[in-house]
Amino acid sequence: MDYEAYFASELDGVREEGRYRVFTDIKRHRGKFPHATRFVDDETQAVTVWCSNDYLGMGQHPKVIEAMHNCLDECGAGAGGTRNISGTNHYHVELEAELADLHGKESALLFTSGYVSNWAGLGTLAAKIPGCVVFSDALNHASMIEGIRHSRAPYKIWKHNDPEDLDRMLSEFGPDVPKLVAFESVYSMDGDIAPIAEILDVCEKHGAMSYIDEVHAVGLYGPHGGGIAEREGLMDRITVIEGTLGKAFGVMGGYIAASANLVDFVRSFASGFIFSTALPPAVAAGAAASIRHLKMSNEEREAQQDRVRQVRRQLDIMGIPHLDNPSHIIPVMVGDAHKCKRISDWLMDNHGIYVQPINYPTVPVGTERLRLTPSPVHGDGDIDALITALSEIWSQCELARMATAA
Ligand SMILES: *Cc1c(COP(=O)(O)O)cnc(C)c1O
Repeated sequence: MDYEAYFASELDGVREEGRYRVFTDIKRHRGKFPHATRFVDDETQAVTVWCSNDYLGMGQHPKVIEAMHNCLDECGAGAGGTRNISGTNHYHVELEAELADLHGKESALLFTSGYVSNWAGLGTLAAKIPGCVVFSDALNHASMIEGIRHSRAPYKIWKHNDPEDLDRMLSEFGPDVPKLVAFESVYSMDGDIAPIAEILDVCEKHGAMSYIDEVHAVGLYGPHGGGIAEREGLMDRITVIEGTLGKAFGVMGGYIAASANLVDFVRSFASGFIFSTALPPAVAAGAAASIRHLKMSNEEREAQQDRVRQVRRQLDIMGIPHLDNPSHIIPVMVGDAHKCKRISDWLMDNHGIYVQPINYPTVPVGTERLRLTPSPVHGDGDIDALITALSEIWSQCELARMATAA
């Protein structure tokens, strides 16, 4: 086989479908985020990032930076091993205690990313519990889907955010069949929020375990940043809460929080946990500092919600269509892959505004969008520049506007 020709032809296919990914090369500047420098064709350009998942700017918070510096100087660069073979650093142990406390659970377990925590957590539970059937929300993240598939357990996909459909599916299985229901709280592309209480009612009715991905909610919702389940007083009814340290907490890593036995079970059987080097201690120290800060401070959460409201209001005034949802994610709808890419390029090249286009297969064809994520570090000037530029390109491309709220 001509391997090189095969790779090249597959890539051509992706290009023809308009799905080829070109990474934007930037340097984020501590203390100046969302402002960054873009590197393009041997030149640099000042840009404002509008599509980051560093939702609260915690990636540059002085407490986080200081904790990481101190730990790096104290412990060195890497963990030096898997958790079982010399890699468990005291900072990992402290962080796991912090996470268990954040979610009101007995125990928590760290992974190298949120992706790995879903893949290994769901994969291990579904594979190891004899006869387990998994019930997965139709819009679950790739990391959950891969974990479920990898487990080889039978699975059913229920209609997105539809507890009645879930109830119907669970009813097909007797009380003796072990059941695992997997869903998210805030869905990252539409920004909609699951009816968690209703889903838990259905899980409890059928004796099913519940597994929630709160990746886009931890740090952001609830009085201590425990997520939507904390805000709604539901954490104790959920079997497993999964989260990331890489989005609102601004660092890197993933975790699950659950009962001591469940966490010990995953710790003891999950290949993706056991056979992988532990996170660098400085990463654990930075994440712990971020969590501790956000447990005590509502300032960042309130400022973020204020910025989100501000951007929505201005989009409404200009009649620029965006999905209405109860979260911090603002999907500006374009509805055409090529236009979406063109608008994104134009915003970058002419205004230094960085918003990645979101196209198929991340979202369905016809719902292509720009996903805006306002944060406390976006100033009024940044918002004005964004709205003015969007309005200009909306006219240029003759895109439809909504009835204005003005
Ligand atoms: C980003 C994401 C993950 C993965 O988390 P990482 O820490 O980035 O690996 C998991 N679930 C959802 C819903 C996500 O959006």
